[in-house]
Amino acid sequence: MIITRYVGDLEKDSPIFYSDFLIIGSGIAGLFTALKASTYGKVIVLTKKTLLDSNTKLAQGGIAAAVHEEDSPFLHLEDTLEAGAGLCEIDAVDVLVREGPQRVRELIEAGATFDMKDGNVSLTKEGAHSKARVLHAADATGEAIRSALVQKCQESPDITVLENQFLVDILGDHNQQECYGALIYDTKKNQTNIYISKSTIIAAGGNGQLYKYTTNPDVATADGMAAAFRAGCSLIDMEFIQFHPTVLFSRDTQRFLISEAVRGEGGLLYNKNKERFMHKYHPLEELAPRDVVSRAILNEMMTKDSEYVYLDMKHIPNVTKRFPNIYENCLQNNIDITKNLVPVSPAAHYTMGGIQTNTKAETNLYSLYACGEVACVGVHGANRLASNSLLEGIVFGQKIIDNVEEILYRRKITPEEVFKNYDSTWVFTSENPTIEPNQAKKQLQEIMWEKVGIIREETGLKQANTEITEIYKNLAPSDNIVSYYEAINMLTVARIIVQASLWRKESRGGHYRSDYPKRDDVRWIKHMSFVNC
Ligand SMILES: Cc1cc2nc3c(=O)[nH]c(=O)nc-3n(C[C@H](O)[C@H](O)[C@H](O)COP(=O)(O)OP(=O)(O)OC[C@H]3O[C@@H](n4cnc5c(N)ncnc54)[C@H](O)[C@@H]3O)c2cc1C
Repeated sequence: MIITRYVGDLEKDSPIFYSDFLIIGSGIAGLFTALKASTYGKVIVLTKKTLLDSNTKLAQGGIAAAVHEEDSPFLHLEDTLEAGAGLCEIDAVDVLVREGPQRVRELIEAGATFDMKDGNVSLTKEGAHSKARVLHAADATGEAIRSALVQKCQESPDITVLENQFLVDILGDHNQQECYGALIYDTKKNQTNIYISKSTIIAAGGNGQLYKYTTNPDVATADGMAAAFRAGCSLIDMEFIQFHPTVLFSRDTQRFLISEAVRGEGGLLYNKNKERFMHKYHPLEELAPRDVVSRAILNEMMTKDSEYVYLDMKHIPNVTKRFPNIYENCLQNNIDITKNLVPVSPAAHYTMGGIQTNTKAETNLYSLYACGEVACVGVHGANRLASNSLLEGIVFGQKIIDNVEEILYRRKITPEEVFKNYDSTWVFTSENPTIEPNQAKKQLQEIMWEKVGIIREETGLKQANTEITEIYKNLAPSDNIVSYYEAINMLTVARIIVQASLWRKESRGGHYRSDYPKRDDVRWIKHMSFVNC
């Protein structure tokens, strides 16, 4: 592998900013952590585009927590372990399910409103949950949470939230494995800034944009994982990608999700010939695990030579009230869900792997933390249980703040230390700069979709490896510096996903190999991690 430590240049005259908590990302993980941190010190939240650009904003179905008296953290733990297909870290899941209910109460105190029924919070049962435990705000739960957290953060005198601030690199002492802060590119002022902080928290979300078709917004370009990897963090479980089965078919590459809750409420799948097919693939039919439904749909699409299958929601009682957001979005595409079948196909949705952390959300670099989708603490294993990811962001964000005394006690880092430990010879340079970033991204997304997607096999993965390495070597700088950084990040993380997928010679959860279609518990109850060295 070609090793690179930085992608950005540290300039002597760059402005320098200081904080106690530097948070990268304004999704649920970043904003919740900011709110909690603000009781103790100065918080800066930096986000790549606007506060509206995150996976959190798009989350539909809800947030899972054992809040009902007939439910328990233990049952939630059992369901999470079952979905994780043998690879969950039980200590991490234990923290998630035990501390989840209290964190959800705090979300409500922060102003997030969930649907109510008979004076109690209304709970839905989603696929693979044994109890109704998903709190929701119609079909726009993420936005209900996001807007409440944004308002609280903006009201706090101790939190500064800045948009259009792109994380370029993590700064620190490479030998001592210590983080000092981050190099940030201000995309409005076209200027590089240095942020020095007692703690740096990466909450920069997932990787969906590595794939041609995804539910994720354009900010999900793996920047957080790539920057952490360059700095010496370990990335783990990277082969496990969740493909959501039912995404509204369109000519766009970023596609609109049709929540799993629709199938939970009775939505049915039909192939091109208007035949139901899920009974051929799994006893739970439409409520089978996401990876099974995605492969079934793909198979029906291939055998029937079609670009989509159909989801029938017409018969669901009060469907427009229960799913107003889905109703509106389909209507904008001239599909009336009360009258028409909805064309759907799978798309990349969620990154199970990420920056390896322990249950305190610590990475292997001192003073660098990660939480939310960018991190991998081990709660999802090989496959995420629906509605556990919003929960993960708040539970492990809080774990960072549980350690606040130690954080505040740290010495102040000087600019001299930052410059002394930056080596400009470690900045990425291309061997043969001929492919411009946007072209590189498009090529990468095609390769990942075709060869590292829902169904993988050795020949395709090897080809992907060669092709992606070629693009990486030939990537050319561009005036659009953000696009250039994103392309490097996407290529960096894609290469790790390909390598992990090649090495894991079995099928499990979000990783399916047609040449090794069986789960192999004798050889493969283990994780693979990658470190830049
Ligand atoms: C359509 C959709 C529906 C979903 N539905 C559900 C659901 O019902 N329940 C559930 O639990 N989960 C759901 N998920 C998953 C869930 O939304 C995410 O896992 C979760 O919101 C991740 O939160 P986060 O804070 O870690 O990341 P995000 O919400 O993605 O936030 C990441 C932030 O980092 C910023 N960022 C990225 N790169 C940089 C950079 N270089 N510099 C600075 N900032 C950067 C982004 O702009 C963004 O603000 C859904 C996801 C999608 C896409």
